[in-house]
Amino acid sequence: MSSHPENEPILNYEVGSNERNELEKEIDNQLSQTIEIPCIINGEEIYTNNTVTQVVPHNHKHVLANVHLASQKEIEMACNSAVKAQEAWIDIGLEKRSEIFEKCADLLATSWRMKINASTMLNQSKTVFQAEIDAACELIDFWRFNVFYAKNFHNDLQPLVSPEGMVNTTEIRPLEGFVLAITPFNFTSIAGNLPSAPALVGCTSIWKPSRNSYYSNYMIMKLMMEAGLPPGVINFIPGSGAEITEIALSNPDFAGVHFTGSTAVFQGLWQRIAEALPNLKGYPRIVGETGGKDFIVAHPDCDRQGLLVALLRGAFEYQGQKCSAASRAYIPESVWGDIGNNLVSEVKKIKMGDCKDFTNFMTSVIDKRAFDKITGYIQRAKENENCEIAVGGGSNEETGWFIEPTIIVTKDPKSESMVEEIFGPVLTIYVYDDNKFEETLKLCDESSPYALTGAIFAKSEENIETAYNALRFTAGNFYINDKPTGAVVAQQPFGGARASGTNDKAGGPLNLLRWISPRSVKRTNMEIHDWTYPFMKN
Ligand code: NAD
Repeated sequence: MSSHPENEPILNYEVGSNERNELEKEIDNQLSQTIEIPCIINGEEIYTNNTVTQVVPHNHKHVLANVHLASQKEIEMACNSAVKAQEAWIDIGLEKRSEIFEKCADLLATSWRMKINASTMLNQSKTVFQAEIDAACELIDFWRFNVFYAKNFHNDLQPLVSPEGMVNTTEIRPLEGFVLAITPFNFTSIAGNLPSAPALVGCTSIWKPSRNSYYSNYMIMKLMMEAGLPPGVINFIPGSGAEITEIALSNPDFAGVHFTGSTAVFQGLWQRIAEALPNLKGYPRIVGETGGKDFIVAHPDCDRQGLLVALLRGAFEYQGQKCSAASRAYIPESVWGDIGNNLVSEVKKIKMGDCKDFTNFMTSVIDKRAFDKITGYIQRAKENENCEIAVGGGSNEETGWFIEPTIIVTKDPKSESMVEEIFGPVLTIYVYDDNKFEETLKLCDESSPYALTGAIFAKSEENIETAYNALRFTAGNFYINDKPTGAVVAQQPFGGARASGTNDKAGGPLNLLRWISPRSVKRTNMEIHDWTYPFMKN
């Protein structure tokens, strides 16, 4: 096996650093203009003049772009152009395709870094650190490690045995047809990875970005074109998810869906694909990473301060809008007695505001719909006699969609905010009797349909092992004495099961294997000229 790439180092944007100066200039530059975002089909920009605006969530009167939405005509064009582009894309081979994605990674690490980070900060309201670890580092890692994994399994999948007189090989074919990549708003890296991972192994795709990240996602599309992505291999089509899905599924060459987003949308998609099956050429691959209700369980013997920091960062970084965000915690009475007041006072220190002010730890949530949904949960908790708001609970949508970091303490471990995905800066804590650790692990396992991420805080090996075993199927990414967010490509391959997805671990070989359909080839060098067998002779 060749040596593997290194994870992209995270720049720290300290005052006076080159990266800080460059980024600030780029933010101002992007704020000084309103751009037009077209569909990009077969490498051509198509302006449909049916537009929506893309605003800055923490300053929602500011328009970043007018986005030209695809209609039925453009969606059909995109599907056809993906189908047409596939033969040449296969023919250029893995080496050349790898070079293109390695070039993408190099561009993102250098000349495009500030552009992509600034666009993610403005479009999805991320602080500089959240933008850097997502839009720059994670996407660079996705591209570099995917290339490494793809090259290795091309060799590893060759047949073990070729007896004398024959040569056995396996052609690592891609799926026949195009992949529909439907991407979420919250990670620019995931948006870039979903269409490009299948493309690396020879699929072509149509990419339906989220309506809340058209701006940063368009920049990624432009970067890939600059890196030499041929026309038609990835077709960028802003528009209605339901309409794009209907049209893609009416095309017999639909070969699969690569989805990240909410559980409800994915379940609907799966059902629609099943209905469309008789019209399709093959059985499509269905890969989806979906919602979470991610937990932290603490044991009475845990490190108090480590737990406090994990709760705060895990729950409130990026306003809790990570699929992995800690949103429910099970804390023993003795530990809560030790850290409760401190946690509340630390949370009160969190500064929230514009991403341009680097002293802010949080900015706003993504849009009005999210604002209403999250504040609805907070309001119902306020009205629930089992729940008490320990800190936060306020919100203001005048300039941007701001919601205070909020901690709810509940007496009911099955209360709404303890079991449903809220996807906002809301952490619910259930305080349990110190003697009920094992019952609490069972409660954690059985309380929510999701199984994405989770953490155990404990010092003794025995307690860690008890939790490790009891929570085997409760999380696809499990953390011991760490927050449940911040998975790194090639270190903690990411994904969950149950209602959290198909657990195909983006950024790793398992995911790439879903986009291939190998052909086994036997070549004989000693043709047989006698049709009879020895056993037939007297
Ligand atoms: P979402 O489900 O609202 O949207 C995801 C994508 O689906 C968007 O592009 C959207 O336009 C599209 N979509 C919406 N309705 C559709 C329909 N009927 N048919 C086809 N496409 C449709 O999710 P979101 O708000 O963008 O992202 C947040 C969700 O994503 C959360 O539930 C979060 O947990 C999940 N998420 C999961 C992971 C993971 O790796 N497990 C990562 C990021 C986000």
